[in-house]
Amino acid sequence: MTSNAFKPYRGTSSKIELDLREELSRLLYGAEDEIAKGNVGLLRRMRRDEDGELMRCPCRNKITDEPDRDFFCRYCHGHGYFWDEYKIVYYRNDDAFRKSKGKVKEFEGVLFYFEWNADIEPTDYIVEVALDKEGRPLQPVQRIKVYDILSSDTFNADRGRVEFWQIRAKERREWSVWYGVKNRQHN
Ligand SMILES: [Zn+2]
Repeated sequence: MTSNAFKPYRGTSSKIELDLREELSRLLYGAEDEIAKGNVGLLRRMRRDEDGELMRCPCRNKITDEPDRDFFCRYCHGHGYFWDEYKIVYYRNDDAFRKSKGKVKEFEGVLFYFEWNADIEPTDYIVEVALDKEGRPLQPVQRIKVYDILSSDTFNADRGRVEFWQIRAKERREWSVWYGVKNRQHN
């Protein structure tokens, strides 16, 4: 971290405050003196109809309303809704942050950090994809893990400005019947 990372807010008192938006941007995308540490991934967002309702997948059971759990549904991947995916860049912290902060409540999961202007909804999922040595997603895209979003918090500066998002997430459990099942068998 260099001294020029510290810059005072415009129009405030003489108080010098770290610009965390700028810091996270440097961390994610790199800078002259900093290697990019952001990960490219996907944000999986449930699709909504014109009324704003989530669009239900036809694999849902007509009686129980549950998504198909006997076979892997290639349309919704078991979410029970149609969805789209968008490229995202995040910073992930598995444990260093928690170990250094005794007061932070332990939880089984992962912390993801997003820029202040990130667009994230509670019904979204974070998808980890396989990357090459340069950090670019392999083609075709290989989805490694899917994370449920448990909660999201904004980290605000003293003046109330959102500096970044912290998302608590947990790896989504796949139903055991899916293991080894690649596609629905058509008989
Ligand atoms: Zn489905």
